[in-house]
Amino acid sequence: MDRKIYILLGAPGAGKGTLAAAISQEVGLAHIASGDLFREALSKGTRLGLEAKKYMDKGELVPDEITIKMILERIARPDCDTGLLLDGFPRTLEQAKALDEALSKNGESVTKSLYINVSDEEVVRRLGGRWICRGCQTPYHEINMPPKVKGVCDACGGELYQRDDDTVATVRSRLDVYTKQTKPLIDYYDKIGKLGKINGEGQAEEVAERLLAVVK
Ligand code: AMP
Repeated sequence: MDRKIYILLGAPGAGKGTLAAAISQEVGLAHIASGDLFREALSKGTRLGLEAKKYMDKGELVPDEITIKMILERIARPDCDTGLLLDGFPRTLEQAKALDEALSKNGESVTKSLYINVSDEEVVRRLGGRWICRGCQTPYHEINMPPKVKGVCDACGGELYQRDDDTVATVRSRLDVYTKQTKPLIDYYDKIGKLGKINGEGQAEEVAERLLAVVK
């Protein structure tokens, strides 16, 4: 299969979900977000969802074995044939290697990993005011990107909610996990010449333009 496969790398709160939602349609890529897949499974009460919740509530990573299986199944579906924008996966070296291995079996490889660079202070500030639509998962921010009507999604009219794992203690642990387990991936993709860096600070539209310039 000759499809483009992009990975969005960056800290929680770097804006990966917002950016992916903003550009995926325009560039014809399926937006696959591992966190959304876990939350969806949980809202349906499946075994996968209940298992994932144990880790998500603590801000820890769901074990590689479970996560890798879920993503590999998801990216094999027909809606991914036109290309992929992976958001939140891979998050460990194990996951990155498993993805490479699975793709190479189909004669495919990652096109580029796009690192969205945002300072620690900005990340903490952003996660604090984050609201998400229950219906279509569009993220908003109280200050940076408020909805037109408080508590209501501009896109679909759905109800906005705050994630359970956006509390101060969990945010701290998610940032720790990011530093220890996910940051090494920046080096991993750099070494194989597949890293693109994007300045993630500033208005959402500006950052989306920077990202589009790399992806298009
Ligand atoms: P996110 O929506 O990407 O911030 O993910 C929310 C939570 O889902 C994370 O804190 C993890 O508990 C879990 N999760 C999402 N993606 C992964 C992944 N690639 N590996 C392990 N756990 C993940």
